[in-house]
Amino acid sequence: MGIVAEDIARVRESTDIVGLISERVALKRVGRRYQGLCPFHNEKSASFSVNPELGVYHCFGCQASGDSITFLRELDHIDFIDAVERLAARAGITLRYDDAKANQDRQKRSRLVEAMRAAVAVYHDRLLTSPDAGPARAYLRSRGFDGDAARRFELGWAPDGYDVLTRTLLDQRFSRDDLAAVGLTFTNRANRMQDQFRNRLMFPIFDRQGDPVGFGGRTLTGDGPKYKNSPETPLYHKSRILYGLNWAKAEVSARDAVVICEGYTDVMAFALAGVPNAVATCGTALTEDHVQVLKNFTRHIVLAYDADNAGQTAAEKWYTWEQRFEIDVRVAALPTGGDPADLFKADPDALGRAVEGARSFMQFKLDRVLGAADLTTPEGRARAAEASVRVLREHTNELVREGYIQQVAGVTGFDHAWFKDAIARPAPRRGEEPEPTTAERPVVRVDPSARVDRREIEALRWAIHEPAQVASWIDVSLFGDPLAIEAFELLAASASFHEALTQATGPVLALLEQLAVEEPVVDGEPETLHARLVVSLVEPAGERWLADLLRRGDERAMAVKPLLDRIAHARNSDWAVGEQAALQLVGMLADAQAPVDDGSAPAAEPNTEVPVGSEA
Ligand SMILES: [Zn+2]
Repeated sequence: MGIVAEDIARVRESTDIVGLISERVALKRVGRRYQGLCPFHNEKSASFSVNPELGVYHCFGCQASGDSITFLRELDHIDFIDAVERLAARAGITLRYDDAKANQDRQKRSRLVEAMRAAVAVYHDRLLTSPDAGPARAYLRSRGFDGDAARRFELGWAPDGYDVLTRTLLDQRFSRDDLAAVGLTFTNRANRMQDQFRNRLMFPIFDRQGDPVGFGGRTLTGDGPKYKNSPETPLYHKSRILYGLNWAKAEVSARDAVVICEGYTDVMAFALAGVPNAVATCGTALTEDHVQVLKNFTRHIVLAYDADNAGQTAAEKWYTWEQRFEIDVRVAALPTGGDPADLFKADPDALGRAVEGARSFMQFKLDRVLGAADLTTPEGRARAAEASVRVLREHTNELVREGYIQQVAGVTGFDHAWFKDAIARPAPRRGEEPEPTTAERPVVRVDPSARVDRREIEALRWAIHEPAQVASWIDVSLFGDPLAIEAFELLAASASFHEALTQATGPVLALLEQLAVEEPVVDGEPETLHARLVVSLVEPAGERWLADLLRRGDERAMAVKPLLDRIAHARNSDWAVGEQAALQLVGMLADAQAPVDDGSAPAAEPNTEVPVGSEA
């Protein structure tokens, strides 16, 4: 079985191994050898070496070695014959087979590819020259694609006739069976050969070697589905094929990243906008087979899906693949509701920026949850926290979750421990997930103070028992916990602690009653007591604010960050410096959160919001 030995030897000799490997690995000439980062194992310094004279490669790191055929086999996980055929095609060698059946198969495949190639040419010519393709050309122009783009991607036009393509290809001596086998024609009820695609803008789909294997056809009139794809054929397997990989593969390797889009025009848009490493699935979701194909070229995947679509894809799938295939998946920063092709027309450079600004899948989902939340109310923050827990829970890796918990704790103001507990609780089964309501506040459901940040509790104790310690600087903006905020606001608005108690209800009442019988903690040196108290309340509030500013891209983060750094450095060593920085931060925080003075109501004067004394 197989290919004639003589031909295999010819293929080996005719293949430029440096040229072949360079398509996948950046090689540098070192003397008479070439060196690069090994594609077979992860490494930071180059231990992969190619010897062009002998036509072999060797890796000193993982001991991978072989010739051009081995290289293709191992990198692309293909069989020997497949590898030899690809190299033969590169070198323009026609192979002979010593097995009649294999020979037949190869010949059949090559006939089918030829039929597809002829169809691409017929449709393409029609698009460029035929009067009936006018609307298609106009449509392309309206999307920002000119004639050069149409030629580059070999776009076509399938005319509105029953058998225009079929007749043309039969005239070119292609057989009925072959045309049917590649899905270009079918036999209708009247037992007549009929074109599969009619009245559609045609996107030819190539395999990664550049052989045409299928079509995606887009209707411009709204007849039938928007996109119609070739049926599964011996050439075309949509769960494995990636549109554009034939053009993008070298750039995917060179940039060590692949951008995955949803549509043919998205791939075109990216390529024309200077992001040539984009591919698309053909009318299906990305499959495991696709990932297998891609990971031969890169382990970095950027999803360029419309934000809503990306949000709806199953996160678990990505996290599983990340671990199983050692890939990392990020989501491009595309605006909601705009696909890349739309963006291309409006602002081509935005496509490159969207890829550069790609975030991890987890970050993307959290940003959506937090971005949609109203973080100005306790209820809104509670809902955001609950929603974040659902997102966090999807990731099985505790270390990965940990980093994000820090972040959502900062933004929502709930403490880290609460998130850890909430994630550890078993997830409700699908469909039974309770929709959090305003009445439902995760943090305050039980023991009033147990879940409140203890630093905020401590500040409240001082406000109740020793108001002089806090009166000059304490401000509602320093509290992040909804219950603590309510309690503090009630204290500040009341003439006496007793009055506050009579006004309070529910968890706030329970909390105030509890605090009334608890003395503030006095430990450590008395000289630093005040500073420690200020720092312990201001620091977490500052961190929450910073996280929020960073999330919104607010420039004030530049001013907040150094103050927080100063506090962190001064902690435990120079309390006076820490206190000073903290007090500065209080001023900024209070200013930032004070309502705008519109003349009708007095603007909040944070430092005058003196809590009441201990008259309980
Ligand atoms: Zn290696």
